[in-house]
Amino acid sequence: MKVKIINGTIITPYRYIRDGTILIENGIIIGIETRDMDFPDSDVIDAEGHYVAPGFIDLHIHGGGGHDFMDGSVDAFLKIAETHAQYGTTAMVPTTLTAEKEHLLETLDFYEKANAANANGAQFLGMHLEGPYFALSQRGAQDPRYIRNPDPKEYEEVLAYSNSITRWSAAPELPGAIEFGKRLKQKGILAAVAHTDAIYEDVLEAYENGYTLATHLYSAMSGVTRRNAFRYAGTIESAFLLDMDVEIIADGVHLPAPLLKLIYKIKGPDRIALITDAMRAAGMPEGESTLGSLKNGLKVIVEDGVAKLPDRTSFAGSVSTADRLVRTMVNMADVSLLDAVRMATATPARIMGVHDRKGTLVAGKDADIVIFDADIRIQRTIIKGKTIYLNAIPQI
Ligand SMILES: [Zn+2]
Repeated sequence: MKVKIINGTIITPYRYIRDGTILIENGIIIGIETRDMDFPDSDVIDAEGHYVAPGFIDLHIHGGGGHDFMDGSVDAFLKIAETHAQYGTTAMVPTTLTAEKEHLLETLDFYEKANAANANGAQFLGMHLEGPYFALSQRGAQDPRYIRNPDPKEYEEVLAYSNSITRWSAAPELPGAIEFGKRLKQKGILAAVAHTDAIYEDVLEAYENGYTLATHLYSAMSGVTRRNAFRYAGTIESAFLLDMDVEIIADGVHLPAPLLKLIYKIKGPDRIALITDAMRAAGMPEGESTLGSLKNGLKVIVEDGVAKLPDRTSFAGSVSTADRLVRTMVNMADVSLLDAVRMATATPARIMGVHDRKGTLVAGKDADIVIFDADIRIQRTIIKGKTIYLNAIPQI
């Protein structure tokens, strides 16, 4: 199985290689060349002058194509993976919502079956449990019925149940949250601060004990607060001040341009991961939808390119796809295409610990590749050397 990609502008993503060539054998990149090369017996993909970049890696995603990872089926997992692959995502971390323990365990079961069956969608990089250990005051669209404090008896059972958890988000100021972070660190699971009212002192202690990522920065998270006359730095300021990674919902709605620019200015492209945080309505027409499981999820309304609670007081997840994140950073935040791609590829790969095989176009890594035009519209998605999506609309 040999493939050669020619006639594209390669985004490595540390530089452009114009008219570059990528050589692929058995799903692995074996060469990045600055000119066309002989590669006998290979299939040739003509990039037609488009950009050729690493596939996008989405660290935080709940659904798409009408499905949610908590729907309770293998089919839902596969359909979400296939839907987002059409928008350039080649790897993702399926994410749960706050729920009862039994529902989480069941979702982990479906994850494992879906992971084994996933042949035509974005690859899965383990599960992200978002909650249920959150601050009630910062619940956002998380169902308050299921929010609780960390309980070692419960999380030890969950950790013993499945080896598929690679990330877990919690509020660090809750009783038991530091112990929980230490335990995640021990298990090699990425711990993230989320849905939190923490002040700097809480976040510092959390950071020192395993929490290295801020979940959807600015969303459901404390900023500067006052207690009587005195000001306290919140989680946002802590994420800026400490050497932490941040992820941002760069759909162009959750964060306005000045905040995107501020985050980029302070953290830079090597500390920022672009995430969709997409719910089931991603890749679907606007209108009514459900956040979380069909059985006991929350009714939401999708309008203005985002999901909202019915009373419109809060966003209820995004309907973004990965191509839109990159487009937003370029068009709204005035970030270079190289840096925008990096925040969707190399940086999330490093944060997830898969940078040895994903996130950049270099020899030895998986041939997860996306080809897109000047408007960052996806033309072709390739996973491990195999084309799994091809835009059938003829180019004008
Ligand atoms: Zn989420």
